[in-house]
Amino acid sequence: MVALAAFAILTPALALGLPPGGADGRGPLAPIEGASGRALPDDALFFLRLAADARRAAAKPHADEALAPVLKVRLLEAYHVARQQVSVEPRCGALFGRFGVAGAESLARTRYRSGEGLAGCIRQAAAYTCVGCLQTVLCPAFTNLDTETAAAILIHEALHQAGLPERPPTPDAMSSLEITRMVESNCAL
Ligand SMILES: [Zn+2]
Repeated sequence: MVALAAFAILTPALALGLPPGGADGRGPLAPIEGASGRALPDDALFFLRLAADARRAAAKPHADEALAPVLKVRLLEAYHVARQQVSVEPRCGALFGRFGVAGAESLARTRYRSGEGLAGCIRQAAAYTCVGCLQTVLCPAFTNLDTETAAAILIHEALHQAGLPERPPTPDAMSSLEITRMVESNCAL
């Protein structure tokens, strides 16, 4: 599939409006786990319920309340498809495996922010983030993507969060287009 939108990745210093990961004050990103690491038999049901809650929480993206409704709808649809593909397509999940993280986990960690009015959203960029950053900025152009392309973009950005660099700025890394094509090919999108 031909991706219609341009994609951008910025070095941390240039990631305008992108606060450091986890700095948005929205609380812990990881599912709640027992502090002791030892679940007594009486606690088994309690921990099972916690695990189920964590799974349900991760089934929906962490979206900034400031996201425009139309952008939020596109995100929800694309996130559902992205989460499914990283879980059921072995080659898609393997893209994350080399960074020691599960694709669904990387997606669940991501905080989606509105890029409305941000300089990073110029030139029809659909979304951007920086390597290792927990936040992905969704630009107005994201709403114009079809669901599969939008899902590929979410996986593309989640790979950056996991540690995948891009050229530019990293020499010898894959280009933005190459990464998106890799995602579309491996994730059947
Ligand atoms: Zn990229």
